[in-house]
Amino acid sequence: MFPYDTIMIYCPYCAKRSEILVKHPKAQGNHYQQVNVPDHIAKSVTEQTITCDGCKNKLDVDYLHVKTTEYNVRVRINCEGMTSTDDWYEDAIPTDTCDNEYYQEKQY
Ligand SMILES: [Zn+2]
Repeated sequence: MFPYDTIMIYCPYCAKRSEILVKHPKAQGNHYQQVNVPDHIAKSVTEQTITCDGCKNKLDVDYLHVKTTEYNVRVRINCEGMTSTDDWYEDAIPTDTCDNEYYQEKQY
């Protein structure tokens, strides 16, 4: 049983690799790169300051909540039973493509 996993991090200044240990209930002694740390492990990273072996800069390490799920309202034309009206009006909007989707961009 391993009480921790290891995450490889890289100094933003000199790119030297460092390792931090992360204790969490499901730790199995795994190694992760900073970019592919599973969410539940990333959330277990404790705020800490380490010293880079390369440039001796102090590096603050903690976890960042990245919003990965967004919801939006989608409006689509319901194509069920729709027949083309192209033949009825010369200037009709073509309806042969029935996959129109409309998203209202969110304003932040
Ligand atoms: Zn460094």
